[in-house]
Amino acid sequence: MPTLSREIALSLYRWSTTRTRMHLAKQFEASGTYPAAILFYHRVADSHPNGWTISNSNFAQHLDWVQQNARFASLSDIRKSQRNGHRTVAMVSLTFDDGYSENCEKAIPTILERKIPCTYFVSTHFVETGEPFPHDRAAGIPLKPNTIEEIQRMASQGITIGGHTHTHLDLGKPLSAEQIKREISDSRKKLQDWSQQPVHYFAFPYGLKENVSQQSIDAVLEAGYECFLTAAGGLNWPGEDPVHLQRIHGDPGMAALTNWLTLDPRKLKLKSPVVIDPSVYRQRMDAPSDSDRSSQG
Ligand SMILES: [Zn+2]
Repeated sequence: MPTLSREIALSLYRWSTTRTRMHLAKQFEASGTYPAAILFYHRVADSHPNGWTISNSNFAQHLDWVQQNARFASLSDIRKSQRNGHRTVAMVSLTFDDGYSENCEKAIPTILERKIPCTYFVSTHFVETGEPFPHDRAAGIPLKPNTIEEIQRMASQGITIGGHTHTHLDLGKPLSAEQIKREISDSRKKLQDWSQQPVHYFAFPYGLKENVSQQSIDAVLEAGYECFLTAAGGLNWPGEDPVHLQRIHGDPGMAALTNWLTLDPRKLKLKSPVVIDPSVYRQRMDAPSDSDRSSQG
């Protein structure tokens, strides 16, 4: 949760760099090189605040701000403009990680009511068993995961369901064949069964450089995912590899959000946390994507 002094410092920094940001925005609009931001949240709830929870009123403020200052887009739309190398507007995509039951009380109905595209990444073990996530158990507050029925309902209402492993495993460590099967391919099959949707997107748990390996990237693509997402805070530039998308944490507060989404000059320099094997990349670029095929018929 942000402190007041951090909020003030960030607002001052944003204000002092306004001219640079306006200049950059004009430049990106004119050249079609506007970066896209993908926000990730975990839990929207008014009880048990923690570092991965945002209140319903703060979340609504974030949605208001993005709707007034940028354009909400689906991951599929962002990937299209990554692929064709041209984007003239500030696009923002909304995602959730893990699968917390309370999101279905207000946040998801609000998103649906506002017709905002949203991708919801789910760790299947917790949904199947109702067990709390390891990070909540460790923090001493066992919060309630989503149920299979909630995942089914969200999917039927238009929320895109994505994979987030079975047990929220850190995929930066070497993986056995059994782990790959359970965490990546079997978990994708379960999500497809529950959602009755093809599941194209995979978000790496923890999502930093140390939580991703070439072995796990290969396993994700071999399991049939089209695209994987990390969470190291970077933006997505037109023309970049659409097999990998970078995300920004939405929880740290309004000042951080508005700072990042208005072309923070420091943010623009952030490097991608993963280097993709060019042979895997070429293979994926040459193949028509499932989402393209489905949209044609
Ligand atoms: Zn997670």
